[in-house]
Amino acid sequence: MQYPINEIFYSLQGEANFAGLPSVFIRLQGCNVGCAFCDTKHTWELNPDTEQSVIKLVAKQNQHTDNWAYFSHEELLTEIKKYSACRHVVFTGGEPAMYDLAAITNELHSLGYTTQIETSGTEKLLISDNTWVTLSPKVDMPGHKVVLADNVSRANEIKMPVGKMADIDKLKILLSTHQIKTKLVWLQPLSCKENPTKLCIEQALLNNWRVSVQIHKFVNIH
Ligand code: SF4
Repeated sequence: MQYPINEIFYSLQGEANFAGLPSVFIRLQGCNVGCAFCDTKHTWELNPDTEQSVIKLVAKQNQHTDNWAYFSHEELLTEIKKYSACRHVVFTGGEPAMYDLAAITNELHSLGYTTQIETSGTEKLLISDNTWVTLSPKVDMPGHKVVLADNVSRANEIKMPVGKMADIDKLKILLSTHQIKTKLVWLQPLSCKENPTKLCIEQALLNNWRVSVQIHKFVNIH
């Protein structure tokens, strides 16, 4: 298995249940959901013209570029192990669920790591049974992808990006029309802006949901 990687970095998880936890982030290249508010649009295309060597990609530090490289299973493990204190690995993107992550997540668990995937829920999940699923549902986006019922049911937490009241309405429809196992429902204000943040707080108080405020943006880390 070859994994198309945009970047690998070590930081604090800034969102939802694992906020504050040191984590290795594996950002996979490729997404066809097309959210207008996406802050990682440079990950959308798997363009052969922007493919790099693994060595060059590893040297790319904190740069939001569309360069990417194919990593083998072993190359990925080698990079993760460089951050020796870290025991939590987050697969993000792009849309990481476009790829079969079962082998790498299972091996990481056997090595004593915990794993997490941050997904829009629009692709079938190929991951370890032990992987924590953070479902950030993307409903009615330009890519016309559908949030899959199995993913909503599998989710360990649901983290809704909120810019306006219509996003709350979409969340309510999702929760009322799917089997939900988790009780962890987070509202995450888009871009930490004032009005979305107020809306999230107001709606969290009304519905007994939680607010996720992207702490990495407040403390200005990657
Ligand atoms: S699913 Fe995520 S990566 Fe894809 S467009 Fe939406 S916000 Fe961006």
